[in-house]
Amino acid sequence: MIEALGPKALEGTRWAYPVAAVAILAIFALYWVDVHSPINVTVGALAVLPVLAAAWLLDGRLTSVVTAVAIGSRIVVAYQGGLTPITAGSQGIVLPLVAAAGHLAARGLLAARRGREHEREVRDLSFLVTTSQAIAASLDLDNILASATQAVAQVVHRGGQGGPARAAFHQLLEDDRLRIAYDFDEAGSRSAEGEYPMAWNRAAVRAAKSGQIEVVGADDLAPELAELAGREHWQAGAIVPVRAAGRLHGMMIATARDHDFTTEELHLVEVVAQMTGLAIGHAEMFRRERDEAERAGDLERTKAEFLRLASHELRGPLTVVRGYLSMLLDGSVGNPDPTTTRMLDTVQGKVSEMDRLITQMLEAARLEEARPMLKLERFDLGDVIEEAIRRMAPLDPEGRVRLEPPATELPVEADRERLLTILTNLIGNALKYSPDGGEVTISTAALDGRLKTMVADRGIGIATRDLPSLFTRFGRVVPEQYATIAGTGLGLYLSRELARLVGGDVTIESELGRGSTFTLDLPAAA
Ligand code: ADP
Repeated sequence: MIEALGPKALEGTRWAYPVAAVAILAIFALYWVDVHSPINVTVGALAVLPVLAAAWLLDGRLTSVVTAVAIGSRIVVAYQGGLTPITAGSQGIVLPLVAAAGHLAARGLLAARRGREHEREVRDLSFLVTTSQAIAASLDLDNILASATQAVAQVVHRGGQGGPARAAFHQLLEDDRLRIAYDFDEAGSRSAEGEYPMAWNRAAVRAAKSGQIEVVGADDLAPELAELAGREHWQAGAIVPVRAAGRLHGMMIATARDHDFTTEELHLVEVVAQMTGLAIGHAEMFRRERDEAERAGDLERTKAEFLRLASHELRGPLTVVRGYLSMLLDGSVGNPDPTTTRMLDTVQGKVSEMDRLITQMLEAARLEEARPMLKLERFDLGDVIEEAIRRMAPLDPEGRVRLEPPATELPVEADRERLLTILTNLIGNALKYSPDGGEVTISTAALDGRLKTMVADRGIGIATRDLPSLFTRFGRVVPEQYATIAGTGLGLYLSRELARLVGGDVTIESELGRGSTFTLDLPAAA
C-alpha cells in the first residue's frame, strides 16, 4: 500500500485519470467556497494540495492539466471579485512552482529507488558470477562444497540483531543420516560438527520431498536435534536440497541474524544450491572419466608389456628352429626325399610367417617405448617391392600377386628393412583377406615429389564405419564369417607408424565385399 502511494505510483495506471478528476473536483470545490463563502477567508490557498498530490502521484501531463485548472480557478475567482487580484495572483504564481517542485521531488526519489534496485541487481549478479566461478573452478568435491557454503554465508550476511549469519552443508550419508560437513559463519570461520538422522530435521525431509527451499519453523527440529543445534550454536533458518545427477547430496542451510529472509536472499541461496549441484555433477563425471582413463592406461601398459615379453620369449626358440630347418634343407644332415622336402618347405613358410609376426610384435613394443632408430639409405623402391613379393612367395603358391612394372625409377631414402615390413604386411593382408582368390595387384606412381605404391585386392573389403579402427593397435575388424582368418591387429598400426617416421603414410580405400586398395605414400628422394 505504501509502495502504491510512492512517487509516481499511479503513473500509467488505470487510477491516473480518476485521481486527476478528483483533484480537479477538489479545485472546483475550493473555487465554490471562495466565491460563495460568507466568511472572508481565502481557502483557495488550499489548491496547492490537489496540485501537490497530482505532482506526486501522476505523470507530467496530467499534473500540468490539474495545475492549469487550479491557476484558471484563481483567475476566475479574481474576476468574480471573490478575491483581490493580488491575493489571487500570488496564489496562482505559487501553484506551478509547487507542481514543479512536487514533480521533481517524486522523479528524483523514483530515480534513486530504481538506482538502488539496479545496484542490488548488479551486486547479486556479480555475486553469482564470482560464486559460480569459485564453485565451477574446482573439480574437487570438498572445494566445491566449501566454496558454496561460504557463498551462502555471504548471501545472508547483513546487519541485525542476534548471532552472526551462518551457512552449513549437511551431507547425506548412506543410512539417511545428515552429517554437518561444512559450517561457516559470515566471517568465514568454521564451527559446528556432528551428525543426526534426517528424520530429526522435518524441514530437511520436506525440502528433500519438494526439491525446493523451505524455511525451518520452530517445531521442525526434533528435541534431540534442537539440543545438538543449541550445543553447537547452530540454528536452522532456510534449508534447500542440493541434487546432482538426480541424486540428493545433502542440504544447504542458511541462518540470517534475525532469522528472517528476504525473497532475494532465499532466491540467491536456491541458485547457489543449484549451481553446487551442477558443479558436483561435473566433478563426478570428471572423476569417472579419469578413473576410466587410468584403467585404460593400465590396459595399454599391460598390452605393451605383453608384446615385449612375448616377442622376446618367442624369438630364441624360433632362431633354433630356423637353424635346424636350413641344415635339413641344405642337406648337411643327409639328403631329404622329395616328400620330406615338400613338408620342410611348408614348415619353412610357417616359420617365416612366425618370424614376421615376432618382428611386428617387437617393432610395436619398440614404438611404444621410444622412437625407433632408423637406418636410412637411398635405394630404388621398385627393388624393395620385388623383394617383398619374393619374401611373400611361400604364402602365395598360386602366384596371385602381380606387379605392374614401374614406369620410372623410384628413388627413396628410408630404412630398407622397415619398408619391407610395411610392404610384406600389405601384401600378406591382401592375400589373407581374399580367401576366395583373386589377383593382388601392386602398382606404383611418382607424382609431385611423392612415390605411391598401391596394393589392391578383390577380397572381403572393409565397411566404412570400421575404417577408423584399422590402424589402431590390435584393431581387427574381420566380419564374423571370416573369423577363422588369423591375425594380431598389429600389422597396419605398425605399417602406418613406420611410414610416418620417414614422412610417409598408409591410407586405404575399400568397399565391403568388393576389395581394398592400400596406398603407401612416401617422399621421393631428391
Ligand atoms: P591382422 O594381423 O589382423 O591382419 P592388421 O593390422 O594387418 O592386422 O589389419 C587390421 C585389420 O584390418 C585386420 O584384422 C582386418 O580386419 C583388416 N584388414 C587389413 N587388411 C585388409 C584387407 N586387405 N582386406 C580386408 N580387411 C583388411
